[in-house]
Amino acid sequence: MKYVQIENPEAVSGKLLAPGESFSFACHPGVSCFNQCCRNLRLFLYPYDIIRLKKALGIGTGDIIDRHTDLVLRDSTHFPSVLLRMADNAERTCPFLSDNGCSVYPDRPQTCRAFPVEQGLYFKDENTPPAMLHYFRPPDFCMGQYESSRWTAASWEADQNAVFYNRMTLEWADILRLFHTDPFGGEGPYSGKGKMAFMAAYNVDAFRDFILNSSFLRRYAVAPKLRMKIKTDDAALLRLGFSWIRLFVFGLPTGDIVVRK
Ligand code: SF4
Ligand code: SF4
Repeated sequence: MKYVQIENPEAVSGKLLAPGESFSFACHPGVSCFNQCCRNLRLFLYPYDIIRLKKALGIGTGDIIDRHTDLVLRDSTHFPSVLLRMADNAERTCPFLSDNGCSVYPDRPQTCRAFPVEQGLYFKDENTPPAMLHYFRPPDFCMGQYESSRWTAASWEADQNAVFYNRMTLEWADILRLFHTDPFGGEGPYSGKGKMAFMAAYNVDAFRDFILNSSFLRRYAVAPKLRMKIKTDDAALLRLGFSWIRLFVFGLPTGDIVVRK
């Protein structure tokens, strides 16, 4: 995922796909490069990726963060980015790579799901939600680009069950852009407030526990449609987390949650 200057979308590497423009691609165990791309990656994970990996791995979101990720702070933001930690072996393989391919395939992260397309996000202005551009950019060694199957960005997204992933990523990007300015008054993203915001985005198990076992629901009124789902629906809880970050960190109103009088 890249942020795109809309005045110069071609500055991102790869071929910018026009709406409806097609590309060739197929990946299967018969290609000579099978499994070669799942190693030595700088693979960023987005909040909804963690929810799906929880399902695939059968462990809590806190354990996923502890065991499988590294946090990095990039110059452009005051919110930590989450990198999947590669295995500690010579080839630095993805920890989920097996001889048969991806062991978490139905719940693989968005970046893997989109591959060989990379998405670019652009913001028309600060009041407009982000939109996506699509770049076809397989690495040179990827033989899949010489297969005969043809796709558009939209048909590939549908084939890879990526529609909901992309929607959640756009919602997260709309929050993340707020962190381009420092909301922590110089205390940094690892301050108490920063840690709470991180929990709401990346550790829904801890966020659920916080909501249900603190004074949260006495301090905040949650929209009924979301409140009903808090106990069982991780994606709905994540959306509440996004709204809460908007309110708690930036003091911005949302329709989902308000401070009780
Ligand atoms: S999660 Fe699966 S598809 Fe993604 S890099 Fe790892 S093994 Fe490959
Ligand atoms: S390099 Fe391309 S064709 Fe080869 S395994 Fe990866 S995605 Fe498939």
